[in-house]
Parts: sequence; C-alpha cells; structure tokens
Amino acid sequence: MKPFADNEIAEIRSHFPALHQKVYGKPFVYLDNAATTQKPQAVIDRLVAYYSLENSNIHRGVHYLSQQATQAYEDARQTVADFINASAANQIIFTKGTTESVNLLAGSLRQFYLLEGDAVLITGMEHHSNLVPWQQVCKQNQAELLVAALNDKGETDLDHFAELLDKKPKLAAITHISNALGSVNPVKEMIRMAHEKGVPVLVDGAQAVAHTSIDVQELDCDFFVFSGHKMFGPMGIGVLYAKAFWLQKMPPWQFGGEMVDQVSFEETTFNQLPFKFEAGTPNVAGVLGLKTAIDFLKQYDMEVIAKHENQLMQQALEKLLTIPGMRLIGEAENRAGVISFVVDGTHPSDIGTLVDKMGVAVRTGHHCAQPVMTRFDVPGTVRASFALYNSLADVEGLFQAVKKAVMMLR
Ligand code: PLP
Repeated sequence: MKPFADNEIAEIRSHFPALHQKVYGKPFVYLDNAATTQKPQAVIDRLVAYYSLENSNIHRGVHYLSQQATQAYEDARQTVADFINASAANQIIFTKGTTESVNLLAGSLRQFYLLEGDAVLITGMEHHSNLVPWQQVCKQNQAELLVAALNDKGETDLDHFAELLDKKPKLAAITHISNALGSVNPVKEMIRMAHEKGVPVLVDGAQAVAHTSIDVQELDCDFFVFSGHKMFGPMGIGVLYAKAFWLQKMPPWQFGGEMVDQVSFEETTFNQLPFKFEAGTPNVAGVLGLKTAIDFLKQYDMEVIAKHENQLMQQALEKLLTIPGMRLIGEAENRAGVISFVVDGTHPSDIGTLVDKMGVAVRTGHHCAQPVMTRFDVPGTVRASFALYNSLADVEGLFQAVKKAVMMLR
C-alpha cells in the first residue's frame, strides 16, 4: 500500500482552511497535531448548521427541531460505535474528552471496585490524564499505583508489566500511543497478558484514533477512551467506550437531569444505558461535528494514513539528525508520527519560540507527561507531530527552521 501522492495531499489540504493562512507572513507549517488537529470545512459547517437552524435540546422535546436533533445525536452515537466496532451504540458514552472519560471511569470504579488494598497498573509513558485520576483514586482509597517501567528506547518493559500483573491489580490503564515519545504500545498483546491474569484493561486511545484503525472487539479492551479534537472533530467532545458488563455494573458519577428515570425526594432510579452516564444537556453540536469528522476520516484508508505519516516522520528524522547535538527522546521500534527531541546547548522552549516566528508550529515542554521527562532526564522536549494533511514541504519547513534556530542559539 502506497502513501498519499502529492496531488492527494493537495486535495486533503484543500479541506482545511487553517492550513492556508500565513503566520508572521510565512507559510504556515502545522506540526502540533498531537495537541489538537485542524478542522476540515465540513466539520466547521456542521457546527454552524446546527446552531443556525437545528439548535434545540434533545431527548425531552416533542417539537420538530428537538426530534430532529435527537435523531441526529443518536445517529452520531451509532457512527462512533461503528468507527471503533463497538457491538452496540449504547456502549458509547459521550464526554468532554479523554480526560473526562478517564475521570468518569475513575469516579465510578472508586465507588465499588477500586478499594483499600487494591492496585491499579499504568505504564511509565502515560499522559497526566491517564495517570493523575488513578493516582488520586489510589490515594483516596488506600490502593497502590503500579507503574510499568520504560526501557531506554521509550518502550514499555513488557517483562516488568508481566511482573506487575502478577500482583493482581484490579485494572490496567495503558496508552495506545505515547503523545510525548510516539511509542506504540503493543496493546493487543498487553490486553491478552492482562486478561490471562483476570485484569481488565482501559486503553487511552487519544493519540491512536486519527492514525490507526481501532476495533475494540478485536482488541478485546474493557474500556477505550478518546477525544474528538485530536481526530479533526470539535473541542469539548469525547468518548468512553466500555463493555456492557461494566456499564451495567458501574454507578453513575454525575447526577442531574437526563440520567434519571423516576425521582422523588426520597429516591431516584437511573435511566438506561447510555443515558445513565450523560447527566445534563450534552454537547449536541460537538457530537454532530464528531460524526462529520469520522465521516471525513472514513474517506481515507487508515493504513495509507499511517504509512504517509510514518514516511514523513522518517524523512524528518533523517534531516533533523544532521543537526549537530540533536538527540531524540523516544526511539521505539514501533512508533507513530511523533518526533520528540532536544538539542545539546539549547533549551526546547527557545527552539519552539524561534521556529514559531518562522511559521512553524511545534510543541515544547513536558507534554503533560512529566514522569516521562524525568525518566529521560530532560526538562522538556521539542515535539513535532504529523497528521494526514502534512506534506514533504512541512518536513522541509521544520528542518530549515530548527537548523536556523539552533544556529541562532549557539
Ligand atoms: N491521553 C493522551 C495520550 C493525550 O495525548 C492527551 C492529550 O494530549 C490526553 C490523554 C488528554 O486529552 P484531552 O485533553 O483531549 O482530554
């Protein structure tokens, strides 16, 4: 399977207005896709259409607009379920994003499942969003947080992961792809290992959904979480997928309208799935925009997207490594389109500030993964992350800007 040809990239880019602007008078090179992706016109139009003509609250209304919006919202749930191959739409809970999805899960499991003396297993490469909620639950409930170590390449040490599974944690919470290192965890294998020990698994798919195809049934994960804005959708919308068994057992974590069935001053019964976990007025526009983003993404073959991003990453690596003092942080055998680096004698934030003035958007800092920075003994890194609309010209723009910045700083 071949990566995208130049004319295909031009066609893809034509859908993204943000990519065609100039920044400081320079052509805009956007390589901060791991933080958030740009939005295709279709997604922007969907939000405008909803608020222009369809705006109404859902599920409770008998009037025309409410019924139309309810139908569109529930259709979108089915689209999300199909996208990750969930077996039923009511296994899809809409949230604000990955962070809220993990908090929902942690807030619910801590009430009945993660108790004193229990343990939660994570890896050393987790984003703070899949670390701090578990750390806090463990603190509150006198449980233990177990952390599988990383090797020097930035891969999870699977022997250590297996050793920690022997301690019988109640949950393993692992990222699919590291936002700080680009390392791809062998999640299918890790889920198999965990299940062999009877340990359920949460996969943080925030960095995976726009770059690799996801089949939650094939993975056999118990929980899967992701954010719309990292896959060309709007901000403020995300997903928690869970196996039905868990959703039935889990108590709600937020209370209010929508998630209830019968309410009296003495007692409340809860709504059926998935509404039990969606208290209050949801982000209807965000859900519709997410559906449009998925429809956009489905036009392309995920394998081709992955190949394209990988090729750009390899080309960028070849060029960047010619810069004296360049040091990669994270050199996993299996990695996605993320390059994290430091350059001896310079500070990452100085490089980021200088390349920005040349029109190149990268991210600098700890990337919400401070323990990863500690592991590699760096204050932070410069991170370039690729998406399907990036081109060879972006790679060249990155290289020239970093080279110039390093010369200016030395
Ligand atoms: N997990 C990973 C791996 C991420 O990269 C991010 C965001 O960068 C998150 C979780 C949190 O996502 P959000 O801020 O959309 O909730």
